[in-house]
Amino acid sequence: MPDLEAVDLDLLQRLYRHEQMPSAVLAAATDWHRPTLMHVLPEVPIWHSDRIVLIGDAGHPVGAGQGASMAIEDAVVLARALEHADVAAALGGYARQRRARIAKMVKSASANRDAKTAGPLARRLRNLFMPVALRLFYERGTSWLYTHDVTAGWQQAAAGGGR
Ligand SMILES: Cc1cc2nc3c(=O)[nH]c(=O)nc-3n(C[C@H](O)[C@H](O)[C@H](O)COP(=O)(O)OP(=O)(O)OC[C@H]3O[C@@H](n4cnc5c(N)ncnc54)[C@H](O)[C@@H]3O)c2cc1C
Repeated sequence: MPDLEAVDLDLLQRLYRHEQMPSAVLAAATDWHRPTLMHVLPEVPIWHSDRIVLIGDAGHPVGAGQGASMAIEDAVVLARALEHADVAAALGGYARQRRARIAKMVKSASANRDAKTAGPLARRLRNLFMPVALRLFYERGTSWLYTHDVTAGWQQAAAGGGR
């Protein structure tokens, strides 16, 4: 486990010395907060019983700056499922409907985390490639995330019943 007491502004400035924007931010910093360790929690295998359901971070912390949106989507799907089925069937329908999307989000979060730990060569390539990729492919590549209709499958999920 890293020694959090040894992390100070000097160390951060050395670690980010190759990154222009973080270096500028750190150079302008007048105060800083104690670092916190981030943990990636294991997948929660069961999201519901007949009477209890997990939504949002309780069921699936995604760690990608999308946790709030996933929690809101969960709430919409759950509310819709409860409108059209008994409680046990609705909770099962909700869990089935959300699994694939959350799994995709978690996978995307892992890929983002790995990209942040690039070495010097990967960093150079990334800095060359990203301005072009963002302009040409970003919108298409992320449309699964930003154009998702949480209500699209609810009828089928609620009608399916069971778990
Ligand atoms: C630093 C940081 C930055 C983030 N940035 C983003 C971002 O840019 N975009 C994004 O989409 N997401 C972001 N997230 C993630 C987002 O905040 C969470 O995914 C989201 O808040 C999850 O919502 P939730 O309702 O599931 O849980 P929470 O917001 O954690 O709500 C749970 C609530 O339950 C309460 N509670 C806990 N135990 C009990 C109990 N026993 N009794 C009663 N109440 C209890 C808690 O006090 C809390 O209010 C960020 C998170 C962090 C920490």
